[in-house]
Amino acid sequence: MVDKPCHAVAVIGGATAGSTVAEILAAAGCQVVVFEQNERPYGKIEDGLPRWHDKQREMEYRKIDERLRRPGVTFVPRTKLGQDLDFLALARDWGWSAVVLANGAWKDRPLDAAGAGDVVDRGLVYQNPFVYWFNHYHEVGYAGPRYEVPDEAVVVGGGLASIDVIKIIQLELYARALRARGVTPDVIAMEHEGIPKYCQAHGIDDPSALGVKGGILLYRRRIDDMPLSPMPKGANEKQIAKAGEVRHKILSKCQSNFLFQVRPQTLTRELVIEDGRLRGLVVCKSEVQGRDAAPVPGTEETLRTDLVVSSIGSIPEPLTGVEMKGVYYAFKDWDTGEYGPLPGVFASGNVVTGQGNIKASLDHGKQVAQHLIDRYLDCGPASAAAATTAAAVTEHLARKGPLPAEKVDALLERARARQREVGYDDYASWIQKVTPQV
Ligand SMILES: Cc1cc2nc3c(=O)[nH]c(=O)nc-3n(C[C@H](O)[C@H](O)[C@H](O)COP(=O)(O)OP(=O)(O)OC[C@H]3O[C@@H](n4cnc5c(N)ncnc54)[C@H](O)[C@@H]3O)c2cc1C
Repeated sequence: MVDKPCHAVAVIGGATAGSTVAEILAAAGCQVVVFEQNERPYGKIEDGLPRWHDKQREMEYRKIDERLRRPGVTFVPRTKLGQDLDFLALARDWGWSAVVLANGAWKDRPLDAAGAGDVVDRGLVYQNPFVYWFNHYHEVGYAGPRYEVPDEAVVVGGGLASIDVIKIIQLELYARALRARGVTPDVIAMEHEGIPKYCQAHGIDDPSALGVKGGILLYRRRIDDMPLSPMPKGANEKQIAKAGEVRHKILSKCQSNFLFQVRPQTLTRELVIEDGRLRGLVVCKSEVQGRDAAPVPGTEETLRTDLVVSSIGSIPEPLTGVEMKGVYYAFKDWDTGEYGPLPGVFASGNVVTGQGNIKASLDHGKQVAQHLIDRYLDCGPASAAAATTAAAVTEHLARKGPLPAEKVDALLERARARQREVGYDDYASWIQKVTPQV
């Protein structure tokens, strides 16, 4: 029970951004209810970053736990906006002081090729479900889709996430080849050591002896253009050349550790579909001018493969009642995540731009945000962006009177009723109950 008027804020999504916003607002005296669709609140950290980031993952999990179990934060798992909650009802009718969308970017940007929609999970797989599978397939009770990784699988991409995807493919291929030699492989150790060293430690001096041809990463622009390292805004020629060098270095180190092939300046022209299944890609060379990559006529060739993983970016899931501007929600301020169509609605983290957005927040330079951003910078881009949003929410709340205590109690009671409905008791025992066994 609250004993005096205060603000009550609903946050959708309990991961890095949502938990950070909740922590900051609760510390400022608000009652915050965090609605999370999953049983566990760890979002991209658990399901999107490959599980070989084992130590960082545990650290991030504990940070999220601490934020969600603090006083003033009510965590409501297994509750999905768009399914269990209606956005317009939540934002307009419940009576919250503010609503913050921190639901991440879970929709894969669709592969722009005729027929792609017809062969999803029939040879074409998108990055988000693919990484989810890799992170969870070894758990007892895993019931999601299972993917077979054939030799010479193709990844379409070029960013950091696509490097993770091609690494997963290589680890799976070499794990299978090692198993055939009687070795029980540990893919996490293999990732930490690199494939050649791991093979050597298991009596195979030359990994090529295993006969794996390897996966192929296709990128539409040049290696210099791969967004594997940051490029300063308005970079001069020297900085551009330097970034290009760094990118070459990063890629060649990954290739020597994971033995995959890369084909830069390669565009997907068509899908090869046979009997309703993807069997390859027709690709061609590209000519790069600035950010554009134009097809070079006469360079078409067919790459036959039974698996293409498309890793060309993640965008927010459309939600009933949320207006869109292209593939993003209709924000009026992209730095704070202030949503245009309804006052008091904000967004934070990957949902805003599809990736952690800190630079724009820093350029923004709002005094009220700056000390928060500085404090949360160490926690990563999504947390720092969340600090900017929290500051904007605080400004919004300062212009509004607090809610009467009975009103806040009624909102909290509604949240508790949902907790009871999904079988939630307290944070620690819930997390223990829903943590999968491996
Ligand atoms: C070791 C490490 C490496 C990293 N590497 C990268 C990298 O390579 N690239 C990169 O971009 N970032 C990287 N990051 C940053 C980080 O992964 C993300 O920026 C950050 O986790 C995104 O947090 P988020 O809260 O915005 O989104 P998410 O983590 O996606 O959280 C969204 C939450 O909302 C929930 N949700 C979604 N829809 C609904 C709904 N309808 N109703 C209720 N709940 C919903 C989801 O279940 C999820 O829990 C890295 C971080 C670490 C620690």
